[in-house]
Amino acid sequence: MALSKCEGVILRVKDFGEADRILTILSDTDGKFDAVARGARRPRSRLVGVTQQFSRVNALLFRGRNLDTLSTVELLSSYSSITSDVMKMAYASYVAELVDLMTGERQRNEMLYALVISTFEALDAGPADPDMVLKAFEIKFMSVSGFRPELARCVSCGKPENQASWFGPEAGGLLCDGCRSSDWGSVRFSAATRELAKRLLIWDYDMIAVLKPSRSSFEELNNAFRAYVDQRVGRKLHSLDFISDLKSMERGGKQDS
Ligand SMILES: [Zn+2]
Repeated sequence: MALSKCEGVILRVKDFGEADRILTILSDTDGKFDAVARGARRPRSRLVGVTQQFSRVNALLFRGRNLDTLSTVELLSSYSSITSDVMKMAYASYVAELVDLMTGERQRNEMLYALVISTFEALDAGPADPDMVLKAFEIKFMSVSGFRPELARCVSCGKPENQASWFGPEAGGLLCDGCRSSDWGSVRFSAATRELAKRLLIWDYDMIAVLKPSRSSFEELNNAFRAYVDQRVGRKLHSLDFISDLKSMERGGKQDS
C-alpha cells in the first residue's frame, strides 16, 4: 500500500466497528475523502485525541482502493474555543455539513480548504461576530463552489443593481421589479443589504468585524441566503435544527431574566 501525507480538517467523525472511527477529511491537496482511524475509540490509543471533529491535522495515510487508513496524525489545531462553546460548535457543524454535502470526493479545491480553515479560525478566535462569520461563510462558500450570486445587476434582464431590489434564490442573484415574478421564492433585498452582501463576499473575516448592519438588513440577507443555500443543497441541513433550538433557548433565557 502506498503511503501519502496531507494536511486536512476533520469534517465528520463516525463510529465504525468495535473501536474504530471513520473520518471525513477535507484536505488541501486531495479534496474530500474518508479514512479509517483504527482503534481510535480505545482510551489509550494515540489516535483518540487527534481524531476529533473540526481538528486541523497533518496526516500520514495508507492509500486503500476504497478507504484510506490513518497511520499517524499530528494535531495542528483543535479550535478549543469552538469545542467549548455550544453555539460556536453548532455553527462549525453547519460549516462542516454544508461543505461535506456540496463537495464531491477527491476534488481538489485549495480555495475551499483555505475558506474552511479561515472560517474555523474566525469562529474560534474572532474578532467578527459568529453570526456575521456564518453569513460571510455562506456567500464565500457558494462562490468557491461555483454558485457565486449575481449582485451587480438583475440576473434575468441585466438592469443595473439600483433597479434590482429583490433576490431570487432559484435565479441565483438580484432581480428587478419586472423579473421578480420569474422566481416564486424571490425575497426583498434592499440597497443596504446588497452592499452588505458584497462586503461579506470580498472582505476577509477580520475586516468583517467592523460591519454593524441594521437588524432589517441582516434579516433580509439571512432570508435570501437561507433560501439560496437550501435551493442549491436540495435538502434541509440537520445542523440548522440544532442552531434554531439553541437560538430559541437563548431567547427563552432572556425573557425569563
Ligand atoms: Zn430584470
